[in-house]
Amino acid sequence: MSCLKNNRILIFLFFLIASFYLNGCSKSNESNNYVEKESFQMGTIISQKIYGSNAESSANKIIKRLNSIEENMSLNINTSTLSWINTNSGESQVFHVNDDIYNVLSAAKHFSELSQGAFDITVGPLVKEWGVFTDDPHVPTQSRINELLKLVNYKSIEFDPEKKTFRLPIKGQMIDFGAIAKGYAADEAVKICRKDGIKSAYINLGGNVYVVGNKPDNTPWKIGIQNPRAADGKYIGILRISDKTVVTSGDYERFFVKNGVRYHHIIDPRTGWPSNSDLISSTIVTDSSISADALSTATFVMGLNKSKELLKKLHGVDAIFITKDKKVYITENLRRYFDFQDESGEFTYVEKG
Ligand code: FAD
Ligand code: MG
Repeated sequence: MSCLKNNRILIFLFFLIASFYLNGCSKSNESNNYVEKESFQMGTIISQKIYGSNAESSANKIIKRLNSIEENMSLNINTSTLSWINTNSGESQVFHVNDDIYNVLSAAKHFSELSQGAFDITVGPLVKEWGVFTDDPHVPTQSRINELLKLVNYKSIEFDPEKKTFRLPIKGQMIDFGAIAKGYAADEAVKICRKDGIKSAYINLGGNVYVVGNKPDNTPWKIGIQNPRAADGKYIGILRISDKTVVTSGDYERFFVKNGVRYHHIIDPRTGWPSNSDLISSTIVTDSSISADALSTATFVMGLNKSKELLKKLHGVDAIFITKDKKVYITENLRRYFDFQDESGEFTYVEKG
């Protein structure tokens, strides 16, 4: 009897989790044309707040679209297109890529060149070796890192944008879209909102945020910039924005500590070690989430000065950088939309520079 009861509880839990995974968990108010949904996709919580007569249907379309991107680009799914591409590294034949992979590959190539290799999707073998995402993270030996570094070089990817063909020439090479695909997915989600005539929405893919329009009361959305040295939910400031994406890369998102040293998930492709620039957090604010995702990772690796130089060359891209010595730098255009509010009192806001 108690076994039957336990089985029923397990079956109930299974359907609850399956339903959350497939449909998301939602709260809606049809009379106000509003839906709030959470789903678990791409290894993270996806939150949506959508306002408008098509809110429910747009939110469901977004979950479906994110599922198809995940099935295409996940390294945790053996049957994904990306896993298949990686398994075939070193083979002589070239492969035709679908539009989603093509779009992400083209953007990745552009940001690798722009960052002179600080952003590099061929970093996969090193990410796997460090295992920050697994139950068994460890510090590899220097000789193992040296061996894997031979596989890391975005320039080695054979990619023909006209024929949409692609080849990874060295056996063991592995592409990892972890630093760019959530941005692509956020842009795709926003395309759905715009197509459905949604004028106000907040979409958050595990910290990769895009806001459509203003809040329903016509004031800008407020986005907290996380204190990188405090537990979740504590901010060092608030951004007031409309129709923008905000994406942060930091050393506090995923990491392990060994002998008192913090080893995080963003690898410097030149050394094979977790990036050790002067930045502990890099936030990019712009119109394209794929650009913001790639640039937040790239600038985090490049460090403060090189990143400031890079941003001067880009149009409509702003940033908030936080350094190891707890200084907060913000690009000029963004300053009037940012309220520095550091409860911890540990951070210094650098007004100029
Ligand atoms: P970002 O700075 O944006 O990206 C860091 C990630 O990019 C690293 O984790 C690594 O994968 C890669 N990377 C590291 N260094 C570099 C570099 N120099 N240049 C380029 N790339 C680099 N996580 C799970 O735990 N389970 C899952 O099932 C799962 N599925 C996923 C499916 C997809 C399609 C994607 C895109 C991600 C998935 N993730 C999964 C990963 C997860 O959500 C990560 O936390 C996320 O991708 C890292 O993003 P970030 O915003 O924290 O950091
Ligand atoms: Mg990124």
